[in-house]
Amino acid sequence: MPPVNRNQPKRAVSSESQYSLMEFMQQYPDDAACLESLWRRRYSPDGKHAQCPKCRQERVFSRYGMTQQRQSWTCESCGHHLHPTAGTIFHKSSTSLHLWFYAMDLMTSTRCGISAKQLERELGVTYKTAWRMAYLIRNQLMQQDDTPLSGTVEADEMYVGGKEHNRHASKRSGKMGRGSGGKTLVFGLVQRNGQVRAMTVPNVSRAVIMPHITQKVLPASTIYTDEYGTYQDVAKAGYDHQRINHGAKVYVSGDVHTNTIEGFWSLTKRGVGGVYHSVSSKHLQGYLNEYAWRYNHRDGGQAQFETLLLRAAKAS
Ligand SMILES: [Zn+2]
Repeated sequence: MPPVNRNQPKRAVSSESQYSLMEFMQQYPDDAACLESLWRRRYSPDGKHAQCPKCRQERVFSRYGMTQQRQSWTCESCGHHLHPTAGTIFHKSSTSLHLWFYAMDLMTSTRCGISAKQLERELGVTYKTAWRMAYLIRNQLMQQDDTPLSGTVEADEMYVGGKEHNRHASKRSGKMGRGSGGKTLVFGLVQRNGQVRAMTVPNVSRAVIMPHITQKVLPASTIYTDEYGTYQDVAKAGYDHQRINHGAKVYVSGDVHTNTIEGFWSLTKRGVGGVYHSVSSKHLQGYLNEYAWRYNHRDGGQAQFETLLLRAAKAS
C-alpha cells in the first residue's frame, strides 16, 4: 500500500459524502476561482474565447484591472466588457462570490436543509444577509422545472401546519381545503424513480388540482391517488387512474399506493419543522423548491452543485 499523502486528503471509499468541503475548497479556493468558473460556464468554455455582442463574432477576451477588482473580461478587438455576474443573483452583491458558492454547496449537500441561522454562522455574515442568500438560491436557482412527468405518477396533497395523523380523516370530514388555521395546502406529483413537483395551492378543489395534473403529467401515464373526490376526473382527462382506499385503512394494494409522495411529504415536513421551525405560507413554496431540488438531484453531490451553478450562470 502506498504511503498516505496527508496534503491530498482522499475521501474514504465507504464515506457517504459525495462532495466534501475539502473537495469544494480545492476546486473553489477563492473569489477569483469562483468568478472564473462563472465566466467559463456563462460565456467562455475555454476561458479565452467568447462571442462578443458588439463585434458580433467570437473574439479573444482578456482579464484586465485585477487590482481594481473589476469583475469583467474585455474583448481584445473592441474593448467591450463582459461581466459574468451581470443579471445573476450575485450581481452587485456585497457578499463575496466565494461565500455565495459556499452557501450553494451547503444548501445542496445538507440532506435536511440548513437554516438561515446556521448559514449565518457558517458564512460569518449577518442573519439578514444569510436569509436573503438562502431565499434567492431557493426561489431563483432551485425553481422547479417544467419537464412533464410520465410513466407511473403518484398524486397527493398535504398541509403544513396541521396534524399528520388527522390528515386523511379531515379530508373525509370535508374540513380540508380552506387553508384555514395557519395551514398551508400543498399539492404534489411524483414520478416513480423520477422527479417530484410540489406546489402550494389555495385549495384542493378539482378546478385547482386538475390543471396542475394535466400540465405536469404526460397523457398516457398512470396516476395513483387516494379516493378523495378531487381526483374523480383524472380518468376523464385520459389517464389510467388507480385509487387506493385510505378511508378503509388500505394503504398499499399491490403496486397501487402513494407511498413515494408521502415519503417526500414526511421528509419535507420533518425538515420544515426541524430545521426551519415554522415557515409562513408566503415562503413555503421556496422551501418546497429546495426539498424538491434535493430529491430531484439525489444522484450526487458535485453533479448537484454543478447543476445549480449552471442555473446561476444562466439566470438573468
Ligand atoms: Zn468585441
